[in-house]
Amino acid sequence: MSKYKAVIGLEMHCEMQSNSKVFSSAENSYNDTPNANVRPLDMAFPGTLPTVNKECICKSLLMSLVLNCSQPEYMYFDRKNYYYPDLPKGYQITQMHAPVGVNGKITIDIDGREKEVLIHDIHLEEDSASLDHYRDISLIDYNRSGVPLLELVTEPCFYSAEEAVAFLEYMRRIYQYCGVSEADTKKGQIRCDVNVSIMDENASELGTKVEMKNINSFANVYDAINYEIKRQSELKDAGRYDEVEQETRRFDEESGTTIRMRSKVDAIDYKYFVEPNIPKYKITKEWLEEIKKDIPMLPRERKEKYIKEYNLSEYDANIIIKEKDYADYFEECVKIGINPKLAANYLIVQIIAYINKEGISIKDFYLKPEYLKQIIVEQDKGNISSKQAKEIFNKALDERKEPKNYISKDNAQISDKNLLEDIINTILDNNQTQIEAYHNGKTNLFDYFVGQVMKETKGKANPNMVKEILKEKLD
Ligand code: ADP
Ligand code: MG
Repeated sequence: MSKYKAVIGLEMHCEMQSNSKVFSSAENSYNDTPNANVRPLDMAFPGTLPTVNKECICKSLLMSLVLNCSQPEYMYFDRKNYYYPDLPKGYQITQMHAPVGVNGKITIDIDGREKEVLIHDIHLEEDSASLDHYRDISLIDYNRSGVPLLELVTEPCFYSAEEAVAFLEYMRRIYQYCGVSEADTKKGQIRCDVNVSIMDENASELGTKVEMKNINSFANVYDAINYEIKRQSELKDAGRYDEVEQETRRFDEESGTTIRMRSKVDAIDYKYFVEPNIPKYKITKEWLEEIKKDIPMLPRERKEKYIKEYNLSEYDANIIIKEKDYADYFEECVKIGINPKLAANYLIVQIIAYINKEGISIKDFYLKPEYLKQIIVEQDKGNISSKQAKEIFNKALDERKEPKNYISKDNAQISDKNLLEDIINTILDNNQTQIEAYHNGKTNLFDYFVGQVMKETKGKANPNMVKEILKEKLD
């Protein structure tokens, strides 16, 4: 634990999913064969002009609304000028003067406590091409050139690595819930710049911030922040705080340390100006109202609903909302009439464990909600025991057959009260000596009677009902 207060601000880049790139008609899919999804514009051929993809604009406005930002009166873009081999035009089209959202806020949960995160802005821009470096050469893949990217910049409002990562995790889910992005860190769809400074607990001014660029996993964000806090604290302890410079560093995964890249003093002047090839257009109230209708129920709201309406525990609800696919599966179960608690139980105890083990998505999980229902309905009615239900679940999954094939009369649990009473009466008639002994104080004979019934029914009698009936008859 550092004796200083750490302050963190995040810049989160998220690759958007869309029918085509943001300014060209090329397919937005950069994990294909290199250079398969490229139009002349994406390679900056002379004479090409950008065409704005409305879907990307709408999705960026939707995110602006979700983050409770203010929207500008007009949507337009700026040029950020610099040269790099992955940027064939020599400039990136982005938003500097009028981001699609500014001054937002969103509440997140961190270990059962709420935190309001302040959003500086969110803006829409195009991604660059990607470079593959080999020993002697570098190759350029233009598939990513022009892929829509949302950049979200927070205020310096996080005070620990835990808080920063909790926010990133939550935003990842928001992007998925809103259908804005798959937000898959493994596919490189989320990249973060992390800014860290430290200060004395009650100081009124923020310390000098260090920026760590292009971190591609949340685990690395976490480690990078903690390493920086430690590094800066040690310099401060040693009276060498002036050595903490406004600089850009990178996180080195192997050593778990951060390494200086360049000083902010050498910052490039990007010579921003309004992109002249894209007309401004007005963001009307009516348009925003239309987009608002597309905002789905977000994870925190869903959680609240699960707890209030379906009586789930907070713990269970938290697991279910972790992935939109889990939440969708659960809601489908409830929609087709499965008892929510049982559905949640199956999902958490069996299904999530199974798909994690198999490394598959729940969308590819064989037992769709309607199949699960076949099992749960019988279990609910008491026709099969929970043990049998589990067996049927596993069998159906193994053999890829609908569970109803395994629910036969033969293995059905006996829950017919009249039938059970008949069986029990016969057994009691044949065990007069034991009944006498029972009444004379050998109460552990109760289990003997239960055992007799189970034997007679080959283990299929509903044990709770058997106990109930026996109690009634004996006492
Ligand atoms: P720059 O001009 O270097 O890009 P900005 O003011 O635009 O700096 O902020 C970039 C990011 O750095 C934002 O996410 C912001 O929250 C964060 N940030 C700004 N000052 C600090 C600080 N003192 N400590 C930590 N993060 C900071
Ligand atoms: Mg900045």
